[in-house]
Amino acid sequence: MNVVNDMLREVHSQFVADTSGGVADYIPELAAVDPDAFGIVVATADGYVYEVGDTGTEFTIQSVSKPFTYALALADNGEDAVGAKIDVEPSGEPFNEISLDPVTERPRNPMINAGAITSVSLVHGRSHQDKFDRIRDTYSRYAGRELTMNEQVYRSEARTGHRNRAIGHMLRSFDIVDTDPDDVVDLYFRQCSIDVTCRDLGVMAATMANNGVNPITRSRAAAPALVERVLSVMTTCGMYDGAGDWVARVGLPAKSGVGGSILAVLPGQLGIAVYSPRLDQHGNSVRGVLACRELSRRLELHFLHVG
Ligand code: GLU
Repeated sequence: MNVVNDMLREVHSQFVADTSGGVADYIPELAAVDPDAFGIVVATADGYVYEVGDTGTEFTIQSVSKPFTYALALADNGEDAVGAKIDVEPSGEPFNEISLDPVTERPRNPMINAGAITSVSLVHGRSHQDKFDRIRDTYSRYAGRELTMNEQVYRSEARTGHRNRAIGHMLRSFDIVDTDPDDVVDLYFRQCSIDVTCRDLGVMAATMANNGVNPITRSRAAAPALVERVLSVMTTCGMYDGAGDWVARVGLPAKSGVGGSILAVLPGQLGIAVYSPRLDQHGNSVRGVLACRELSRRLELHFLHVG
């Protein structure tokens, strides 16, 4: 459909000149990306992929990994067992806060680091390597190709990730995590360091939109009930502290990451992915937010939109 390609080109050229914000620089590897890269993908639940700009550039998935591992933890343990460890309430705190909800003594949701690290601890596997392989294989099934880990980013994350280690040990001391917290956090660093392209994220989003079945390979990545649960949490907690504004102005379940990507899902219809590494004060891609707002407006994607 040329009309979709034309629209993507228009949206891309509408925001390409916006160079506000800054790339994440907490490790040198993230600061070294091309700050001007800008790609947009719309992938439909019936398997059409429309793309413009830098959609084949690899970057690390970072926090966009969180919903996928949460889905795997739900599949491995069931909703009740996961719910006993991770709540589903927006936190209103920075994503890397070293705290639990004072009343429930659980991480508030799986999109903040405490909840994401707990999700990792719930992934089944015979060994450390087996658990990581299951995580990577699951993401690969959503993407429809075999994804690999970026060794350099992983090593850097592992060398500098003291705050995440502190979160891991806090979780262990409250018995939320009941295995070796250093191993769990190591898996978390590894999952954040998996390389993806904007096209991969578009297809991963379309797989969620298609109730957990990759619309291109037809392979099932997650059960429909789990997808619904994950998308619910993405709606309220997926965009760091910008979640309220995002729901008001875009109205789609989404997840962003410090690598500069945003993934959004319109259930039953389509997935959107945007890659542009400069971030706003919340840690969300500046051009990613603008492009998603514009796509939502033009295509009337807001889930509360009445036609
Ligand atoms: N590896 C990063 C961290 O946990 C991911 C951050 C993000 O994308 O929000 O600190």
